[in-house]
This record gives sequence, structure tokens and C-alpha cells, in this order.
Amino acid sequence: MGVHVHVRLSQGVSVSAEGELIEHSRCRCGATFTKVYDPDGGEPERPSHS
Ligand SMILES: [Zn+2]
Repeated sequence: MGVHVHVRLSQGVSVSAEGELIEHSRCRCGATFTKVYDPDGGEPERPSHS
């Protein structure tokens, strides 16, 4: 096929052994994707209990 823009349909999320949030998604064409949200990166916002 030529140009195909994958459509990522969310299949849910899970949490890895490292505590990372992993989002699973897949396209109609059968391609699958995983997106990892690193808890130590990106969001500077974090709860503080001090
Ligand atoms: Zn696709």
C-alpha cells in the first residue's frame, strides 16, 4: 500500500514492572503501538508528602 496514516485506537493501558504506564493501541490495518509514559520524565508535577 502507499501512504497510510495509522489510526491509533486505544486498547487500554497497563503498568510495567518498572512502574511505567504503558498505553496500548492498534490500527485497523493490524499495526500495534505501545506508548510508554515514563514516570520520571516529562511531567514535572509530582505529589509531595514532606
Ligand atoms: Zn494502519
